[in-house]
Amino acid sequence: MSPVRVLYLAGSGRSGSTLVTTVLGQLPGFFAAGELRYLWRRGLLENRPCGCGSALADCPLWARVRADLTEADPAGIAARLAARLRLRGLPALLRRQRRGQPPVPGHPDDTHLARLYASIAEHTLPGPSGGVIVDSSKLPPYGALLGSLPGIDLYVLHVVRDPRATAYSWRRRRPLDGRADDQLMSRPPVGKAALLWLVWNTATLRLWGGRGERYLRMRYEDFVADPAGSTARIAGFVGASTEELPFPTPATVRLTPTHSVAGNPSRHRTGLVDVVADTEWLTGLSTRAYAVVTALTGVALSRFGYPLRRPAAPSLAARLSADPVVSSSPATRQEG
Ligand SMILES: [Zn+2]
Repeated sequence: MSPVRVLYLAGSGRSGSTLVTTVLGQLPGFFAAGELRYLWRRGLLENRPCGCGSALADCPLWARVRADLTEADPAGIAARLAARLRLRGLPALLRRQRRGQPPVPGHPDDTHLARLYASIAEHTLPGPSGGVIVDSSKLPPYGALLGSLPGIDLYVLHVVRDPRATAYSWRRRRPLDGRADDQLMSRPPVGKAALLWLVWNTATLRLWGGRGERYLRMRYEDFVADPAGSTARIAGFVGASTEELPFPTPATVRLTPTHSVAGNPSRHRTGLVDVVADTEWLTGLSTRAYAVVTALTGVALSRFGYPLRRPAAPSLAARLSADPVVSSSPATRQEG
């Protein structure tokens, strides 16, 4: 069987990867799987909602995939994945990669992981070698593990967002799966959010930055400034056609439901959506928090093209037209 093309969105949390994934899922031959590293716990064990709105167990697509994984033990796989991919193992992981060894040592669970991607491809993608699975798990160690699984042809899209915007977004109170959910997404303090941003973006660069044709870096700010052009660039990067893009206008995207398994609640949005920058952080982030995040991420800011000083907020008129950003559901915002 020919390998499955997987487009892995790597980087830090709250970088806008949910919007990018949902948009890519509209392209012919692309399957927006969401954050597949959470499938075992949040999907198979906790039965959280699929992007299509059904509980995962009731979604016909995931029922077919699940039937291919009857020998897997979701609780065990979820627990062992967390242990194999934890932050404190990162230095050893990077060392193994430098020596040309698999960055994450192999484990019998890897058979089930490889089977998961093959099964998704079989049930969603056209033809034996056509199509792309979009996995927005983001965590660099998980991407490194995927890269050494048999049957996976890995492409890495590194999505970077201004760490001050990311830190502000982390502090917003938000249900994990939309309004009905009583469990909130995690809200680390700004210092921790800044350090995680630095560690995960630096690790992404170290792991894949030198792999010219298999690595594409895109700033979220550039994606929202030209969503149609950016989407075409990503499609071209994975060797897909750029003829049928879901943009009635250059900044409006038509979203149909996806079957993504986890991610920001905004993955449930459908309909015509205006894609514009969410700039609330420019005025909402306190002076102290701005200084903390800037000091902690300073070494990497210029590398990714971000200024040290706080940019001017857009005028009130521009903010009123740009915020809220979603025509179909005014209370949600595009990030993730
Ligand atoms: Zn579904």
